[in-house]
Amino acid sequence: MTRTLPFMAMLVFAAIALVLWQATGRAFYLYNFGYIGLAIGLGMWLYMKLPRRQRYIGRRVAQFLVGSYMLLFLGVIARENMQIEGFFLYALSGYFAGSVIHYLVAKIFGPLLFGRGWCGWSCWTAMVLDLLPFRKPKPQQGHSHWGNLRYAHFALSLGLVAFLWWGKGYRIQEQSAAELTWLLAGNAAYYASGIGLAFLLRQNRAFCQYLCPIPTLQKLPARLSLLKVAGLAERCRGCGACNRACPMALDVRSFAQRGQRVLSTECIFCLECIDACPYDALTVTCQVELPTPRPGSQPAVKTQERGASPRAPSSP
Ligand code: SF4
Ligand code: SF4
Repeated sequence: MTRTLPFMAMLVFAAIALVLWQATGRAFYLYNFGYIGLAIGLGMWLYMKLPRRQRYIGRRVAQFLVGSYMLLFLGVIARENMQIEGFFLYALSGYFAGSVIHYLVAKIFGPLLFGRGWCGWSCWTAMVLDLLPFRKPKPQQGHSHWGNLRYAHFALSLGLVAFLWWGKGYRIQEQSAAELTWLLAGNAAYYASGIGLAFLLRQNRAFCQYLCPIPTLQKLPARLSLLKVAGLAERCRGCGACNRACPMALDVRSFAQRGQRVLSTECIFCLECIDACPYDALTVTCQVELPTPRPGSQPAVKTQERGASPRAPSSP
């Protein structure tokens, strides 16, 4: 399954490019989604070709190619407000382009296929956060209730837009200085709070886990995602290397020991748990996700990799 990921990524984005080009007549979508598909495909290809301990570099390459293109070219140069407030404003305006298409593809419908892969492979905020020194967080530090902050953030953003739209009569002006100001101010706040939280909680992805409003949109479709990491119960030795590697501090081992897919909607599909497992007990599967199974009630998944022979354990 994992070997086909680069081709799947390029195929999906090529299909999106063609559909949008045909629907709108704008060749821009061919270049835009063609580039994004190639960048992610290249990152995934590198991921597969590099030695196990360096595979994360492939993901970083994709993050920088896509994240910097979207932030600097589409955002700063083309002056498209890609912040969540921009999405709300464009959607209220009935403007089906730029920011709205980005949210529909990456954050609303895309997660039905690739879960929160946007967060793992493309986000321009996370491309910086992943450079910080707390790549492997310590086991949960008792901040799980902080996860509600993201819903408060989402409500505040929506409330601000509603106030401006209906209370102040604010209307979006395409490619204006106001758009650029939204984008720069929003990103400055994201980077500052993301870096601050990472140092406070000693976890690079603390912002993603607690404060970012985007998962509010992603979590439901991500739960149904076709692509997910899955555990092979008969191979798992319970060593916990996957838990230690997970940047989102998920209990991957529990899923693996039950032979389940990683059902948490906090999973960003970074695949670091797969690279960390010394027994090849984790893989990527593509299947329709059925309603929530109770822990321990789901049989082990069947995949073609199951018959592969275990590799010698490396130091966890
Ligand atoms: S469970 Fe695996 S793929 Fe998901 S966030 Fe954790 S390390 Fe990444
Ligand atoms: S690293 Fe592999 S063997 Fe160890 S607990 Fe995780 S899935 Fe099981």
